[in-house]
Amino acid sequence: MQEKGTISIHTENIFPIIKKFLYSDHEIFLRELVSNAIDATQKISRLASIGEFKGELGELKVEVKVDKKAKTLTVVDRGIGMTADEVKKYINQIAFSGAAEFVEKYKDKGEDKQIIGMFGLGFYSAFMVAKKVEIKTLSYQEGSEAAFWICDGSTEFEIGKADKKERGTEVILHLAEDSEEFLEDYRISQILNKYCKFMPVPIVFGKREETVKNEEDKEEKVEKEQVINNTTPLWTRQPSELKDEDYLAFYKELYPFSEDPLFWIHLNVDYPFNLTGILYFPKVKNELDVNKNKIQLYSRQVFITEEVKDVVPEFLMLLHGVIDSPDIPLNVSRSFLQSDGNVKKINAHITKKVADKLNDLFKKDRKIYEEKWSGLNVFVKYGIISDEKFWERAKTFVLLQNTEDKYFTLDEYTKHIESAQKDKDGNHVYIYSSNASAQDAFIKSAQKKGYDVLKLDGILDNHFINQMEMKLEKTRWKRVDSETSDRLVESDEKKESVLSKDEEEKIKKIFEDAIGNSSHTVTIESLPVDEMPVVLTLPEFMRRMKDMSALGGGMAMMGDMPLHHNVIINGNHSLISKILIEPDDNRQKELALQAYDLGMLAQNMLNGKRLTDFIQRSAEMMSK
Ligand code: ADP
Repeated sequence: MQEKGTISIHTENIFPIIKKFLYSDHEIFLRELVSNAIDATQKISRLASIGEFKGELGELKVEVKVDKKAKTLTVVDRGIGMTADEVKKYINQIAFSGAAEFVEKYKDKGEDKQIIGMFGLGFYSAFMVAKKVEIKTLSYQEGSEAAFWICDGSTEFEIGKADKKERGTEVILHLAEDSEEFLEDYRISQILNKYCKFMPVPIVFGKREETVKNEEDKEEKVEKEQVINNTTPLWTRQPSELKDEDYLAFYKELYPFSEDPLFWIHLNVDYPFNLTGILYFPKVKNELDVNKNKIQLYSRQVFITEEVKDVVPEFLMLLHGVIDSPDIPLNVSRSFLQSDGNVKKINAHITKKVADKLNDLFKKDRKIYEEKWSGLNVFVKYGIISDEKFWERAKTFVLLQNTEDKYFTLDEYTKHIESAQKDKDGNHVYIYSSNASAQDAFIKSAQKKGYDVLKLDGILDNHFINQMEMKLEKTRWKRVDSETSDRLVESDEKKESVLSKDEEEKIKKIFEDAIGNSSHTVTIESLPVDEMPVVLTLPEFMRRMKDMSALGGGMAMMGDMPLHHNVIINGNHSLISKILIEPDDNRQKELALQAYDLGMLAQNMLNGKRLTDFIQRSAEMMSK
């Protein structure tokens, strides 16, 4: 006996709406159907294990089959199956009303399109690609009769008895004309590989030839079913039973062409939320963006998305790996996800675990930690800049590296500079170089004064320095060329000058005339005799404003402004005394210009015509 009926939903035309909505993500129908098949399979295993099902389990697997002639794609499982009543209840009522609700909710929300695409619609998504769907199913319950159900995507369906002998469910899609791509083996392999690679029940698709030895010990070719998934991926296993090689091999499985990671964290939480996963620390150099979107989000071993933006703290997006949690709500909008309590907890948990791991590494083997620091520092600094909680932890393991390649923790460094680099107001002055080779003359000067110079030349270091100045009390951060070495650490000490007031005025005038550039401020200072005769400095504040605007931090007009250098004449240098008493005006000007150009040279600012002139002038002066 056959029965006809009408699916009770409000909207007559769900089908076209959904089809349009999910246009770019049609492929997820297969994930949905295979997931259902896996769920049904796991249910029968569970029933068997608690003694509720006493029959033969048989070989538990899910099969995906393509029939090019009939233009069908079939998903077969040996799960619990459904009785006719269950089909009516679960497929007609639950699946379809769920879909109707879904459409109602998202019809007008274009922005949420992506989230729908990601999370799918369950069984109903079959109608994105099929013009007709058949179900044949036999329930595990004793005395059940097999049932069939058929529906063409309208609200009409038919249900009746089927002649199925094996327990389980077959879902047969009669593919629509515009979806025949799903008859292609490579396409199906591709989708299965993307979404089903780590599902917990063997999934069979296609056959593979294999050479085996037969009973007479002769080689023989046989066809074997091809299982496409790894049912026990690493993150589902106990950390205690895994070795480093396992983690590295799994990394290669996820990202075949990547360099080995620095290290990893195995996440394993079951209270107050459920979370497993493995996060790898890649070597992060300067390719901040390239590395994003490398964490895959799973829910019970079903791939959901690589967009983990709302689940993982921003700075941890640089990590690679897998997160699996059934507690991340899947079919909700993005704004809801951001405010979801579980998501927040997961976020905080991951941050904590990452900090723990770094701290452990640092404590356990400082040397290895230092060796890995170049690949790690962007990551740690990003965390410090963007996440207050992480900073609280990272205080103890963020490292500073000086120009001699020695590493210090913040505390160690404060002690290291305690005696030499405390200014008159009690601030610790952190002196840094953003380019050790370009700023070499300044570094040498600072070192002569007994100062230590840090190497802070990474992409995030400008931000990092700003943050450090705010976070660490009584500190000043100065680039090594922002002042003459005498002034880097301010003291009350008055310097004796060998020049009189008149002489200072005179020398200032000579230089101003020689330079002929009014945008530079010329001052005379009493620097050590072995310091350069002319020093060009770049005031810290100005330079930072400019750096920030270059990074797009507002103040766009700063970007175009020429940098205003201070020109400092070393009144104690013998060359300055010589210029002062030089009787020949031209010669005097020439010497001043030469001294100024040397200052420019030390700042890497001499180029073009100025450089050519300088070289020529130098050659002439030498041959005189
Ligand atoms: P969901 O899987 O989110 O519950 P679906 O629309 O995909 O929603 O499926 C609705 C219901 O139909 C399922 O909860 C399940 O009870 C039943 N079902 C679907 N596919 C199968 C299957 N292959 N075997 C047994 N039951 C199934």
